Amino acid sequence: MTKHYDVIVVGAGSMGMAAGYYLAKQGVKVLLVDSFDPPHDKGSHYGDTRIIRHAYGEGREYVPLALRSQVLWDELEKKTHHKIFMQTGAMGFGKKGDAPFIDEGIASGKEYNLEVEHYTGAELKEHYPGLQIPDDYDSFYEPKSGFLFSENCIQAYRDLAEHHGAEFSINDPVRDIEAYDDSVKVITEKGAFTADKLVISAGSWSGKITSKVGLDLPLIPTRQPVAWFEADESLFNANAFPTFMVEIPNGENRAIYYGFPSFGGCGVKVGRHEYVDAINPDTMNREFGSNANDEGHIREFLDKFMPKASGALKNGVICMYTRTPDGHFIIDKHPEHSHISIAAGFSGHGFKFASVVGEILSQLAVSGETDHDISIFRINRPSLQESSVTKN
Ligand SMILES: Cc1cc2nc3c(=O)[nH]c(=O)nc-3n(C[C@H](O)[C@H](O)[C@H](O)COP(=O)(O)OP(=O)(O)OC[C@H]3O[C@@H](n4cnc5c(N)ncnc54)[C@H](O)[C@@H]3O)c2cc1C
Repeated sequence: MTKHYDVIVVGAGSMGMAAGYYLAKQGVKVLLVDSFDPPHDKGSHYGDTRIIRHAYGEGREYVPLALRSQVLWDELEKKTHHKIFMQTGAMGFGKKGDAPFIDEGIASGKEYNLEVEHYTGAELKEHYPGLQIPDDYDSFYEPKSGFLFSENCIQAYRDLAEHHGAEFSINDPVRDIEAYDDSVKVITEKGAFTADKLVISAGSWSGKITSKVGLDLPLIPTRQPVAWFEADESLFNANAFPTFMVEIPNGENRAIYYGFPSFGGCGVKVGRHEYVDAINPDTMNREFGSNANDEGHIREFLDKFMPKASGALKNGVICMYTRTPDGHFIIDKHPEHSHISIAAGFSGHGFKFASVVGEILSQLAVSGETDHDISIFRINRPSLQESSVTKN
């Protein structure tokens, strides 16, 4: 006989695992289904760490969510033996007058009275002798931010969800979904399950899954290299150096580079935040170095801005973003089936919000409403339709 649940969560990664915990904690009978065994190396959460910042270059609407996320991460840290958060501070810098991301970060900090310090390029170099930046750069520093141990976060939520009675169907890809007026049937490789409510949080596969419930969302998975380099530990260890976001100006191949200090000798970790190379998540080349730019772009950045962190390559991995046309997330109820909620398109900056997104998804599943303002993430917003990237 088909087993019935209050809620099924399809995709138990960053967002889904948190949702599973917040549902189970309230006594909701929940099943989490995943193609793999989360946390895992195929998910967008792979690669050990993710930056959390509160002042927000992508838009000040995110600030209240970032602050709530931090509260929930801190709570999680107290409930688990896993290390969740490291408070290293977070800095951002870019060329004065040509760095909209940095400007918005500073403005959002002011609007929400966050603890944010400003430095000129010259001042920043004095604080961080490992930096080599032009004097006409502008910067900000948030002492309360830092980074999350992404895979630990998912494991911690998983342990707690299990403790509260959540059930899992692991290594069990969802093949089809039948949506009825007030229930769903989820057909997986191993069997079939029914539920009153459904949450879809399938990361880079979300487009494939939402197409099974009649939606054609502009979700574009992209291939994202990230790598660790030997660095002068006295300059770049986590007690001496914060996480960073660096905006490269127009005319110099505009992009944002982000990175992490070295801890436990892991080396400085750096990635380039841009939306290129649309891929199919099932067939993407996961070998770091198979494209010369995997290391090349990052090396170029390090040589220019942090030459003493541009040592030997220690490790490199390939991960995936799922981009939306406007770079904002999709978190909403299905327009025709209000018992189905969707969280997708995190556009390379979603992990820090996984805790609050889990809370939002649990609220949507239980009551159909959420306390949080998620209006910029509406599924039917016009800017979602203006795609400039070819879908793979
Ligand atoms: C290199 C890199 C660096 C990043 N840096 C940052 C950062 O510093 N700060 C930040 O905030 N964010 C960052 N991000 C973004 C962040 O990691 C993602 O936005 C976030 O992890 C997305 O979470 P998700 O739940 O959508 O996807 P995932 O964590 O991938 O979860 C999706 C889950 O769905 C499952 N699934 C898929 N299809 C099916 C199916 N058919 N059946 C069952 N299960 C299925 C998958 O197996 C997976 O477990 C980064 C991303 C990358 C790739």
